[in-house]
Amino acid sequence: MSTASTTQEQGHRPGATAAGYPRQGRDRELKRALEAHWAGNLDAVGLLDVVAQVQDQRFAALGGAGLAEVPVGDFSLYDHVLDAAVLLGLLPARATREGLDASTSEGRLERLFTAARGGGDTAALEMTKWFDTNYHHLVPELGPGSRPVLDPTDLLEQLAAARSRGLVARPVLVGPVTFLRLSKPADDAPEGFATTDLLDTVLPVYAELLGRLADEGVAWVQLDETALVTDLDDDLADLARRAYEHLSGVTSRPRLLVGGSYDRLGDAAQVLLDAGVDGLAVDLAGASRADVEAVAGLRGLAGKRLLAGVVDGRGVWRRDLGAALDDLEVLAASGAQVDVAPSCSLLHVPHDVERETDLDPEVRSWLAFADQKLAEVVTLARGLAEGRDAVADELRASADLAASRAASPRTRDAAVRERTDAVTSGDLARDVPAAERRALQAEELGLPLLPTTTIGSFPQTSEIRRARAAHRAGNLDLAAYEAAMEEEVRVVVAAQEKAGVDVLVHGEPERDDMVRYFADRLEGFVTPKHGWVQSYGSRCVRPPVVVGDISRPEPMTVRWTSFAQSLTSAPVKGMLTGPVTILAWSFPRDDEPRGVSAMQIGLALRDEVADLEAAGTRVVQVDEPGLRELLPLRAAGREEYLRWAVDSFRLSTAGAASTTQVHTHMCYAEFGAVMSAIDALDADVISLEAARSRMEVLDELAAEGYDKGVGPGVWDIHSPRVPGEDEVVDHLHEALRRLPADRLWVNPDCGLKTRSVDEVTQGLAVLVGAARRVRDEA
Ligand code: GLN
Ligand code: ZN
Repeated sequence: MSTASTTQEQGHRPGATAAGYPRQGRDRELKRALEAHWAGNLDAVGLLDVVAQVQDQRFAALGGAGLAEVPVGDFSLYDHVLDAAVLLGLLPARATREGLDASTSEGRLERLFTAARGGGDTAALEMTKWFDTNYHHLVPELGPGSRPVLDPTDLLEQLAAARSRGLVARPVLVGPVTFLRLSKPADDAPEGFATTDLLDTVLPVYAELLGRLADEGVAWVQLDETALVTDLDDDLADLARRAYEHLSGVTSRPRLLVGGSYDRLGDAAQVLLDAGVDGLAVDLAGASRADVEAVAGLRGLAGKRLLAGVVDGRGVWRRDLGAALDDLEVLAASGAQVDVAPSCSLLHVPHDVERETDLDPEVRSWLAFADQKLAEVVTLARGLAEGRDAVADELRASADLAASRAASPRTRDAAVRERTDAVTSGDLARDVPAAERRALQAEELGLPLLPTTTIGSFPQTSEIRRARAAHRAGNLDLAAYEAAMEEEVRVVVAAQEKAGVDVLVHGEPERDDMVRYFADRLEGFVTPKHGWVQSYGSRCVRPPVVVGDISRPEPMTVRWTSFAQSLTSAPVKGMLTGPVTILAWSFPRDDEPRGVSAMQIGLALRDEVADLEAAGTRVVQVDEPGLRELLPLRAAGREEYLRWAVDSFRLSTAGAASTTQVHTHMCYAEFGAVMSAIDALDADVISLEAARSRMEVLDELAAEGYDKGVGPGVWDIHSPRVPGEDEVVDHLHEALRRLPADRLWVNPDCGLKTRSVDEVTQGLAVLVGAARRVRDEA
C-alpha cells in the first residue's frame, strides 16, 4: 500500500468526519443557477461560477466545524448515482449528442443534463427513490455490452478544491455492488441479463480509480454499499465478497472504508471485514446497546477503522451526547480505531437551525440540522479522545435539553393520549363489508359505469403562486387571498363540468404542498421556514417536523370542498393526505415510534372526514403515495410497519358512513411489497399509477384478492404528451380483460398540478370521451 497512515498504527486519536453535506447551497443558490441554466438564462460559465461558490460554502462549513477529514465526491450537480455513472463512463450513448465534445465543461454539462432530464427525442434516465428516503436517484442503464471507462475529472476537481483550502479529503463514492444493484438492464439487454453480471467488468475500473487516488496521495476512500443494508442473501453476500476481495487486493491504493447507511449492516459487516477492507462506516442511528455490541463484536475489527454513525444523519433532533459517548466507548473497547460521524450523508437535512428565528426558541433548541450535527460529531470525537471532562459543558447542556424536551407539555398531550388509547378494533372497521357498500354507494351517487374522476390537484398557475406569495409577504390579506382561490375553484369546477367528469375535485389551489398544508394546520408539527432538502435534481422540499402529540384544532379542508360542492350538483371529492404519507414526508419525532404519530394523525383525519360528511361530502379521498416509501429495508420490520400503516389509514376512514365512498390514491409504481396491504386498507376505490406499466398492476391486485373499485391511471401525467382517445380506449379494454366493468374507474395517473391548463382541458376531454365510448360498448 502506497499511503499507509502512520498515526493510525501508533495510537489512534478519534476524529470527526461526515459522508456528505447538503448540496444546494444555504440559499438554494445551486437550484436557482441550474434552473436558470436550463431555461437558457445562464451559460455554463455562469453556472460553474455558482458551483464554485457553493463548494466554497460547503468547505467553509465542513472545515470550519473542525472535521478531521471532509468528504469529496458527495457534492453533485444533480445526483450522485448519475455522477457514479459518469465516473465509470457508463452513461447511455443517447446522452451524447453527435459532435458533443466531452472534454469541455460545456460538453460535460450538456451530457449530464441530457442523461438526467432528457431533451428533444432523448428520454431521460428513469428516476426512483433512494432506499427508504425521500431523495430520488437516477437509474443507470446497463447491458452485456456496457464497457466502463474511468473518468475521474469531476472527482479530482472536488479533491483539488478541498485541498486548496488545506483540508484533508476523503472521497465518498457509490460502491460497485450498490451501483450495479441500483442500475437496470437497458431496454435492448437480452432476457436473463442482470446488471450484477457486470461486477467483473466494473471492478477493474474501481481498481484503476483507487490507483489514481493513491497517486494523488489520498489516504482513505469510502465506498458506500447501502445495497448491503437489506436482508443479506447468498447472492448479495457473494457479490460483496468478490468485490472487496478484489479491491483489497489492489496493490497501490488508499485505505478502503466501506459504508452502509439507513439501517444496520448486519451480517454484511463481517463479510466485508473478512474480505479485507480497512474500515467500516456504520449507521447506528437509533441503535440499541445490542446493535452497538454486535458491531463491537465483529471478528477482526481490532485495529481497523470504524466510522461510528452515532448521530442520526437524516433526523433533525439533537443527540443525547452522553448516551452517544457511552456507545462510542463500547466501540472503542473493541480495539477498533473509532472516528465519529453522522449515520449517513447530511444530504437529507437542512443547513442550519439557527436560521429558524420564527420557531419557538424552546423547540429550536431541541433541533439539529446539518451544521449542528457537525458540531455534535466534533464534540463527541473530542470527548472520546480527551475524556468526558474535556466536553463537560457540552454534555451538561445536552442532558439539560434532553430533560427539557422529555418534560415539555409540547411533546405530550394527555387528551390525545386518552383518545388513542381508547381506539378499539371496531373503530378500524367500516359498518358493512365492501360489497354491500358498493351497492349502497351506487344508489347514493348514481354514477354511470366506468365513472371518470381526477386525482385532486389542477394546474398550479402563476396566478395562484403569485397570490400565495403576496399573501405570505403580507401584501394580500386573507380575505382577498381566499377570494382568489375561490375564483380558481370556480374555474376548475366549470372545466370539469364542461368536460363531463363524473366525480369532481376542487383542484387544491390552496395547497402548495400536500403534506405541509396539513402540518400547518395540525397541532404537534412545526414547519421550518428555511428547512429545504433536496428531493431530486434541483427540486427541494421543506418537510415539517413532528414535535409532539398531534391533534386537529379545527377543520382543515371543509371550507374548500363545501365551496366547490356549492357550485355543482355532481359529487365533489373531499381531498385529504393520509397519515402514512404525512409522516413519510415529515421529519418524525425520535422519542416515540412512528406508529404512535400515525394513529394520532388518523384520529385527526377521522374528525375531518366526519366534518366533511356533515357538510354534505359524499366522496372522500385519502391519498397514500408514501405508503411504499416507509417500508423497512429489512423484512423483519415490515409486518409491524404494515400493521400501523393500515390501522392508521383505517382509523382515518372507517368512521365514514356506508354510503360515503372512500377513495385512496398511490403512485410511484413498484407497489410490490405493499400490494398485500392495499386490500387491507378497505377503501372503496383506489386510483393507481399504471399508464406506463400497461395495466399489469391489475394482475397484481387480483393476485392479492382485491375486489373493490380501482382506477388504473390511463393518462401518464408525468409527461407533457396528452394521450389520444384511442390509446385510452385501449387501456380501458386492457383493464376490462382483468376487471368487471362495475369496478373500473377512469382517471389519470396522479394529480394535474404540474400540467398546463391546455393539456388538462385536452386530457379531460379525452378521458371522458374514451369512457363514454367504452361504456356504450358495454
Ligand atoms: N391529491 C394529490 C394531487 O392530486 C395527490 C398527489 C400525489 O399522489 N403525489 O396532487
Ligand atoms: Zn399520485
